[in-house]
Amino acid sequence: MKNEQHVIITLFGATGDLAHRKLFPALFRLFKEHIIDEHFAVIGTARRSWSDEYFREKIKEACLEESEDSEDINRFTSHFYYLSHDVTNTAHYVALNNLANSLEEKYSTHGNRLYYMAMAPQFFGLIATHLNEENLLNVSGYKRLLIEKPLGRDLESAIQLDKEIKNAFKEEQIFRIDHYLGKDMIKFLPKLKSLPLLKENWSYKGISKIEVTMAESLGIEHRAGYYEGTGALRDMIQNHALQIIASILSPNNRPESGSQQTLRSISLSELFIPNTDQIKQNFIRGQYGEGDGQLPYLSEEGVGNESRTETYVAGKFESQSPTWKGVPIYFRTGKRMKTKSARVDILFKKPLIILKGLKPINVLSIIIDPNPHITGRLLDKENSRWSVDWRTLTNGEKQIEAYQRLIEEALNGEKADFVTIENLKQTWRLIDPIESYWESEEPINLPTYNSGSMGPELANKIIKDDSGWLFKK
Ligand code: NAD
Repeated sequence: MKNEQHVIITLFGATGDLAHRKLFPALFRLFKEHIIDEHFAVIGTARRSWSDEYFREKIKEACLEESEDSEDINRFTSHFYYLSHDVTNTAHYVALNNLANSLEEKYSTHGNRLYYMAMAPQFFGLIATHLNEENLLNVSGYKRLLIEKPLGRDLESAIQLDKEIKNAFKEEQIFRIDHYLGKDMIKFLPKLKSLPLLKENWSYKGISKIEVTMAESLGIEHRAGYYEGTGALRDMIQNHALQIIASILSPNNRPESGSQQTLRSISLSELFIPNTDQIKQNFIRGQYGEGDGQLPYLSEEGVGNESRTETYVAGKFESQSPTWKGVPIYFRTGKRMKTKSARVDILFKKPLIILKGLKPINVLSIIIDPNPHITGRLLDKENSRWSVDWRTLTNGEKQIEAYQRLIEEALNGEKADFVTIENLKQTWRLIDPIESYWESEEPINLPTYNSGSMGPELANKIIKDDSGWLFKK
């Protein structure tokens, strides 16, 4: 039985999409597992003037799929309070503090505060400063901060953002979310990598290439305001793909082996930062055009008809670690692709039997999303294929949704699945040269790809061996 948490959670951006789709259902699941139960309160804030009752109705709507037991959900939502709050208005923080203090007594939350900034990062520094100046951080328990992407748009702005947040929170109090790090399959990786034959072959000695694919079938879905000027490289590679790559490369058996967090940072710091020639050769972007009866990117609402924003990117990183010398790490991500899938495909130098009773394979595919599982096959021999589902793989472990897992870890003060400032800086060091080269590229190389395809033809050329992408779909 896990310990019940005593805490007040303050959620900035409580009327937003992230709160509705992910955070309320995640909190409800934690409630059903009694991780939050009697001694918690959630203060939701945003600009709209909602009543507590209306807020609670919205939360019920968000959690509909999670429970049919209305008593359960009513008990859950009774812990939620709403405060209309403009984050730029000092007086509102005084009201917030008064409400938090009264709830602290009502629910005996032991002075513990978790702040979740589920809104645009341009406000993070301002909120942190106000929380500090209006005395909301002077508490008897812990104070922690949860934030997530986009954390900057380059190294310089990421450092600036961090400086502003550090006016109020110390590094150990900051929990930077990359929700991929909370996904079942990424959590399972250390165990997978420690299967005896995989462990032995998990290096340049056994592996000839690694591919990370993060394909989305949807377009930008009316989010041009965010997407324009961000693009696929910043939206998916700087954070999610690089964290996946770091998790794959981080060894289980380093002598200095620290936490998964430290190991990921080391792996990222060992990736070569690409120079201009390598960027020209190894990185390719694209923009979705017509296809599948969908609008091309340039006709999406809010997108200028000369937009250079990429909706697809593919590229190659390489590690300078002796463990990974010469192993290409390919990645690609795109919107409006043929399928929705987040996966890692690994080609081994020779066939292996990775689990007793299974046929030998030289391609291992780790499917992160949707439906975590692994598959194996011999290259170009479809009849050698097998698949192992999550239950079998884990001896019946329960699947846990990423936000639920990460919020619980933050409540416990466990930091292993969060992004450190060093890790964040390292990702921008890898991304910045590519972005700056692309900004100045003339003539621009931004091919269009058909909606419903696997990206521009040119992206196949960056893979130098005969097999092409292992995941062809
Ligand atoms: P959103 O636009 O749907 O919601 C933003 C929230 O901020 C709203 O509640 C709005 O009322 C509030 N807000 C805006 N200006 C305010 C002000 N001056 N004072 C008080 N409140 C104000 O955004 P979202 O999609 O929920 O995303 C929130 C954050 O999470 C962003 O940083 C986003 O990049 C990140 N994120 C979102 C998702 C997702 O699936 N939606 C996924 C990953 C990361």
